Amino acid sequence: MIEPVRADITQLHVDAIVNAANNSLLGGGGVDGAIHRAAGSALLDACQHLSGCPTGEARITPGFNLPAQYIIHTVGPAWQDGHHGEKQLLENCYRNSLQLALENNVKTIAFPGISTGVYSFPKDKAAEIAVKVMREFEYRFEKIIPCCFSEGDLVLYQNILSG
Ligand code: ADP
Repeated sequence: MIEPVRADITQLHVDAIVNAANNSLLGGGGVDGAIHRAAGSALLDACQHLSGCPTGEARITPGFNLPAQYIIHTVGPAWQDGHHGEKQLLENCYRNSLQLALENNVKTIAFPGISTGVYSFPKDKAAEIAVKVMREFEYRFEKIIPCCFSEGDLVLYQNILSG
């Protein structure tokens, strides 16, 4: 089941939440900063051992102080003009995150809108890509949650899912 919710992703009681990280994996602004603050400093220690992550790939750590058991860190593409492989890289983020989740027996997982903040990926295009990949994996999870930070984002996902 794909069930969009409007929430702060750090508060969700799921097996795994996904972080929209940057290549260093050492924290940043937006959802990344919120996750590091909520998980505590042990998360930074764990991330330092990962030696970064290429764009489109994913890495896993414990959730530490979060209600979620795991954090899957993926690095979305920064939007340039749509002709620099951005769509494929964003698709890779969703696919690699869900694959890594399966390998760790994750049954419930929540995603923020990867690349749709500071990285400026157009929200409608990003949501279409997210839902396309989520649908491919839907039946191997109990619940895949697009975690929307605004009412507008929630409506966007609801419209795509009902269409
Ligand atoms: P990126 O650099 O990949 O664009 P951002 O963190 O800037 O990452 O934004 C990604 C998305 O996460 C945006 O849609 C933003 O509104 C959303 N977001 C920010 N904080 C949270 C949060 N605490 N929970 C869920 N979503 C969040």
